[in-house]
Amino acid sequence: MRNPERFGRRAFLRATGVAGAVALAGSALPGRIAWAAALTKAQRDKMTPDDIIAEMKKGNERFRVGKESPHNYLAQQKVSAKGQYPAAVILSCIDSRAPAETIMDLGIGDVFNARVAGNIANDDILGSMEFACKLAGAKVVLVMGHTACGAIKGAIDNAQLGNLTGLLTKIRPAVEATQYSGERSSKNYAFVDAVARKNVELTMADIRKRSAVLAELESAKTVKIVGSMYNLETGVVEFFG
Ligand SMILES: [Zn+2]
Repeated sequence: MRNPERFGRRAFLRATGVAGAVALAGSALPGRIAWAAALTKAQRDKMTPDDIIAEMKKGNERFRVGKESPHNYLAQQKVSAKGQYPAAVILSCIDSRAPAETIMDLGIGDVFNARVAGNIANDDILGSMEFACKLAGAKVVLVMGHTACGAIKGAIDNAQLGNLTGLLTKIRPAVEATQYSGERSSKNYAFVDAVARKNVELTMADIRKRSAVLAELESAKTVKIVGSMYNLETGVVEFFG
């Protein structure tokens, strides 16, 4: 394994033959430690939302083939302690099998990550996203659902349990809005996954409707709101919308 500390940023750029905004967006490119050490607000701000989405896709590809970057979390921690310039804010489920940073090969300081069962947006999540984009400069809002989601199954089954009941109520509209001609039960994974996808779409619509701040940033093309589904079986993060 390479020794990232021995890579100065300029040496890294020479060694890899890449330069410019796309290279800077390469959150988890080999040698990212040197990148992380040198990333400034100005450099982050050069990236477009599409650059950032492309890098997240590349990171997922590296994860899928077992070629993750050699993260030096200690170095990332030390550098990012002085300030953070994350490129995106992700809204994903609490499911232990769907950790966004890991499955897209991201490091410390790369993204904000809000996690709640069923990846729904409530007022506090919207406030967090507004902070991430308007105040901290993130340019992508990524809503990520996943296959075989327990929260989606619970919503389909109308599960009742303490505070969970209220949370599942927020997922119910996706169950009702899902067009599906087969068996509409939590035992049918094809239906569960169709509801999960619809839930991501409705969450994206919810964000646009309920957050004037984010809707305005999206209209100005400063921020892109995108959806995705993570497949637990294949490891693929599929982007849409
Ligand atoms: Zn889930």
